[in-house]
Amino acid sequence: MSELIIKIVYMVLYVIAAAGRAPIAQKVKKMKAIISVKQKREYVLLFFGSIMMVLPLFYVFSDLLDSYNMGLPMFVRIIGGIAFAFAVYLHNWSHNALDVNWSPTLQIKKNQKLITKGPYKYVRHPMYSAFFLWVLSQGVFLSNWLVGVGGIASFALLYFVRVGDEEKLMIKQFGKGYKDYMKKTNRLVPGLM
Ligand code: SAH
Repeated sequence: MSELIIKIVYMVLYVIAAAGRAPIAQKVKKMKAIISVKQKREYVLLFFGSIMMVLPLFYVFSDLLDSYNMGLPMFVRIIGGIAFAFAVYLHNWSHNALDVNWSPTLQIKKNQKLITKGPYKYVRHPMYSAFFLWVLSQGVFLSNWLVGVGGIASFALLYFVRVGDEEKLMIKQFGKGYKDYMKKTNRLVPGLM
């Protein structure tokens, strides 16, 4: 019974995150990019990045991953669930703050603005912070090590290959504005990294 409740809570949070992204993704589709960086590589990264979203669906809707269950104690899973809920909150907060300046691959759109408000006041990549917390917590919440390790590998690949190019792109577009912003913020965790 408690396993079913965990699966339901997980999927409710998952849908809240998807619903936070959908309207912005819809708006951004119609906007023209003026700079696009390494788009083929970006789509390969998105393909691998999607593993972090697909593995938990196999866990929730089938028994294919059951042999990778960790049997974690319930209180540990609840802590994972709370961290996962915070990841979803940070994801949606970042999306709202970034709004139409968001893009699924590395691009600059016409009239793009540099956002430094909301979570962007504290770190340069709050959406990536949210996804790191997401992959670190979902394996604990679902108590499944394949969901955990697969998700971490999937997002870490996207992040480490992309983030340097993303910051170069932002400097190219916003120059001193972004360089000054870099001096005031860390990438993922305020005051740490
Ligand atoms: N790395 C950010 C945004 C991810 S979406 C985060 O983790 O929150 C990727 C796109 O966002 C990039 O193509 C870039 O054009 C845009 N972007 C990244 N940081 C931005 C900022 N501070 N202001 C405006 N656009 C930004």
